[in-house]
Amino acid sequence: MKVKKAEFIISNTDVSKCPNEPIPEYAFIGRSNVGKSSLINMLTSRKSLAKISGRPGKTQLINHFKINDSWFLVDLPGYGYARVSKSTKKVFQKFITNYFEKRMQLVSAFVLVDCRHEPQKIDMEFMQWLGENQIPFSIIFTKADKLKPNALERNINQYLETLKQDVWEEAPHYLVTSSSSNYGKEEVLKYIGQLNQM
Ligand code: GDP
Repeated sequence: MKVKKAEFIISNTDVSKCPNEPIPEYAFIGRSNVGKSSLINMLTSRKSLAKISGRPGKTQLINHFKINDSWFLVDLPGYGYARVSKSTKKVFQKFITNYFEKRMQLVSAFVLVDCRHEPQKIDMEFMQWLGENQIPFSIIFTKADKLKPNALERNINQYLETLKQDVWEEAPHYLVTSSSSNYGKEEVLKYIGQLNQM
């Protein structure tokens, strides 16, 4: 799929105020600094589309972008940001869970994970919560350029093994990207294109 048009629609913290156009929707989420804004900019071939939400951890908003007039890309707040106070964290967790529970047109979430990192508790818990609530998701391993191919493969395999041991018997679908080299861009867009056809 080629992204010909990418436009910012609305930011808010209230799922009931999200656009109600019944088109397929895909939500991107992960720990702060995982490379979510860079990934969204890579996918849409825009330098700063995702920066609309401001500094990570500061503005906790659900951002809707409409792509090719036919689907929504949703930028959800990064979780686990140290500078956000405990009470703020609680609020955004609630609106994030509200979003996932109520957003009927959501086709799939993409949970971003830095390919260099060992499985983190917060990501594991979040994926477990998605699973328990039957919300489809894929993992996107980001910053692939930071590792040599062998190390990348080893890390991903270890990550999936941990998930299999701790969470599910079967590992979830995953993709690998690098926003510095554009690696994985076509793969992610192709995958979304396939889901859009279903
Ligand atoms: P966000 O907080 O998840 O939106 O993360 P950002 O997209 O702002 O990225 C956080 C930091 O990681 C920035 O310094 C980016 O330049 C860097 N970064 C993001 N993606 C990549 C990548 O694919 N490769 C490399 N080497 N650095 C990246």
